[in-house]
Formats: sequence, structure tokens, C-alpha cells
Amino acid sequence: MPARLIDGTAIGDRLRAELQAEIRALRERGITPGLAAVLVGDNPASATYVRMKGKACEDAGLYHETIRLPRDTSETELLALVDRLNADPKIHGILVQLPLPTQIHTQRVLQRVAPCKDVDGFHPENVGKVFVGDPTGFRPATPYGVQQLLVRSDIDTTGRHAVIVGRSTVVGRPMAALLLQDGPGGNATVTVCHSRTRDIKSVTRQADILIVAMGKPEFVTGDMIKPGAAVIDVGTNRVQDPTTKTGYRLVGDVKFAEAQQVAGAITPVPGGVGPMTITMLLCNTVQAARQCRTA
Ligand code: NAP
Repeated sequence: MPARLIDGTAIGDRLRAELQAEIRALRERGITPGLAAVLVGDNPASATYVRMKGKACEDAGLYHETIRLPRDTSETELLALVDRLNADPKIHGILVQLPLPTQIHTQRVLQRVAPCKDVDGFHPENVGKVFVGDPTGFRPATPYGVQQLLVRSDIDTTGRHAVIVGRSTVVGRPMAALLLQDGPGGNATVTVCHSRTRDIKSVTRQADILIVAMGKPEFVTGDMIKPGAAVIDVGTNRVQDPTTKTGYRLVGDVKFAEAQQVAGAITPVPGGVGPMTITMLLCNTVQAARQCRTA
């Protein structure tokens, strides 16, 4: 029997609907959660992500600003913008879209964002809070979204073996921290694989829950999956496809058709993790507005 589909669009929509009550309550107290997105340069994928985030804010009734800067912006100019946004009371969350052009030191910029406005959860203060399980920390949107997908699809993580493929600071590492926490969507036994992992197939085949965030199109094949496992495909890769209008199509890091025959549950690409990432960014912006009020 093919795997059950985990529908990130539907779960994301439900979460956004639930968030409305809190947005309304904040607005009644004169607070409209506000998000500023900063885009440096003209990377088409980054421009698309920023546009989608802006639209999601509008649809949810959040205030948002998108600040577009030219490709040759200096680090000093970008840091000055971050300082201005840190001081702006209309803005509760700041996201600096990555990657940044090479003349800019990414970590210096991410560390300049005020921790209380760091809705991407990249500032070391929030990294630390997430690691120790402090709920006032901002959980990076993608792993937070994966955790919500698991919880809301009734995939129990307690005592199960979760294998994460990929150790990036954006996905793999914070994913491991969330799965280790003592609470819903946590208490898993966690293994993290990366490019130096030996015999990766023997590790992925042990996974009750397999989370793949590699950026390698269709790397994970059916024979790498334990029968009945839950497979969460974070990968978003453009591959050439002359039969489509755009000339490309999106595929994950998992060979979907094969995996679906082996797994118990699986996320599609698109329509799995992607919509959750944007939803969790909205949740984090609302959290920032709530915490700002009580600070
Ligand atoms: P990344 O920073 O490039 O990290 C990739 C990770 O995969 C690294 O840890 C790397 O290991 C590991 N890896 C690469 N090749 C491997 C191999 N052959 N065997 C084992 N491990 C291997 O990527 P990322 O930012 O985490 O993103 C991963 C994917 O998720 C990308 O497709 C990205 O577009 C997608 N993504 C999607 C969303 C969403 O909202 N849907 C959000 C974020 C990212 P080393 O560390 O050893 O190099």
C-alpha cells in the first residue's frame, strides 16, 4: 500500500487559521505583529521566497515591509539598516534573506539582529535557547515546521529513532535539538548524518522517522528506507524539465515514487515542508510581538 501523504499545505492552513485568534487579540491591544524582510541582490529564488513571505503576512493581517537593496550593498550599509529595524517599534521580526553577496559577512549580520526580533532563530542567543529548550527562543522555521508536521500527523516521536540527513545550521542541527526536547514532537533518539557518514544506507534504514535535508535531488532511494517509516523531505531542488513552461520542476532529496512504496507516511515536494516553513515564520513573528509586549 502506498504511503499516507503528509499534506503540508492543509496542515499549514489549519495552523494559520489557529493563529488568527492570537493576532486578533494582539490587535485589540493596539499591536499589529510586523515583519521586515531584507533582500540583498536579485537571486530569483530568494526574491520568490521573500515575495511569498510578504504575501503570507498580508493574508494573515500582519504588517510587513520588504526592503530590497542592490547587489553591491556594503556590509556597513546592511548593518545600519538592521540597526534601524531593531529600533523600529512597528517591526517585531526581522529576516535577512540568505544567501548574502560575498562582500558581506553573513554571521556578522545575523548576530546584529536583536535576539528579540530574530524570528529566523539564527542569532546565537536563540540557538542556545532552542538547544536548552527555553520556549522564549525562536525555533528556526523549517525544523519547527517539520516538528509540527509530525505532531499534527499523529506521528509519535517518543522513543523512536529519528535519522536526520544533513547537519546545516538552518535545518539539520536545530532539527536534532527539537527532536531531543522533552515534550510533544520530542523525546526521540536522534542520529545526524552528513557527507562524511560511512555507509549512510545502513543508518537511514534504521530510521523510524527519516528527515532529509541535503540539497541533493532524489538522493534517497526506496532501498534506503525502512518499511513503514515516516519520511520528511526538506529538499527543494530545481531540475531541468523542458516539458514544463518554466523549463524546470521542483524535486525533493527523496525519490518520491520509490519511497512512497516503502514508507508509511511521506511529504510531497512541493506541498510538504515548504508551506510549513512560511507558516512557522508567521508563528514566530506573532511570538515576537507577544514577547515584546511583555518584555
Ligand atoms: P546545506 O547547508 O547545503 O546542507 C546540506 C547538508 O547535507 C550538509 O550537512 C551536507 O553534509 C549534507 N550532505 C550533502 N551531501 C551529502 C551526502 N552525499 N551524504 C550525506 N550528507 C550529505 O543545505 P540546507 O540549507 O540544510 O538545505 C538542504 C535542502 O533543504 C536544500 O534542498 C534546500 O533548498 C532545502 N530547504 C528547504 C526549505 C523549505 O522550506 N522547504 C528550507 C530550507 C532548506 P556536510 O555538512 O558534511 O557538507
